[in-house]
Amino acid sequence: MTKRNDNDLVIGGFLPVTTVDFPDRLASVVFCQGCMWRCSYCHNVDLQSLSSEKTILWREVFAKIQARKRLIEAVVFSGGEPLMQPAVEEAIEQVKSLGLKVGLHTNGVQFETFKTVLPMLDWIGIDIKTRFSDYQKITCRFGSGETVKKSLSLLIASGIAYETRTTISPEVHTVNDILSMAEEIAEMGVKTFALQAYRAVCDKQRQLEFKNIPFFLREVTEKLDSLFEHFISRHL
Ligand code: SF4
Repeated sequence: MTKRNDNDLVIGGFLPVTTVDFPDRLASVVFCQGCMWRCSYCHNVDLQSLSSEKTILWREVFAKIQARKRLIEAVVFSGGEPLMQPAVEEAIEQVKSLGLKVGLHTNGVQFETFKTVLPMLDWIGIDIKTRFSDYQKITCRFGSGETVKKSLSLLIASGIAYETRTTISPEVHTVNDILSMAEEIAEMGVKTFALQAYRAVCDKQRQLEFKNIPFFLREVTEKLDSLFEHFISRHL
């Protein structure tokens, strides 16, 4: 069995082909291990820890990408939080060397790494959890919102295609939270915003989900449509 080097990208999963993770492109998705946050509604709990028994070697994933390079148009680095691992930079370079586009799903908290890799990216989906001043209530990490705000400003200024997205959880979001957060990012210049339902992982969450999502949509859709050039309601 081939061993992983200490500085290799730690990968928890690989999706060979998807049509939904990079707009209008057939893409593969690399799910990177590790996230510094602990959102209560996380549906990728298995990816939160950087160490896992079930990781896949980057060289194996890259070989699969190379074999598919005429079938796919892009590779998306997702997670967990891909920018938590410095090795992601080299992985992105390798994918670019194949002539493929690169997408990133990020929570925006690793500002310095984000700044470094941004010029190599073709599309970014960035999570906006709630109002920046309230981030800690969701992420359980002090000061997390301020760094994300910096990353979002950098992204808007870069001119690179992106989508901001909020996963709503009735456990942690009120209608007012969503509307004031949306106003905050619209003022920063955000044009594209998606609201998506979280995936319930227990019966209590499922009950909340079914009771509250239609109420959320009724209350917020008109306002969000007016704030953004592109408002996307996804899986709701
Ligand atoms: S940022 Fe994403 S991956 Fe990390 S804990 Fe929150 S929901 Fe899970």
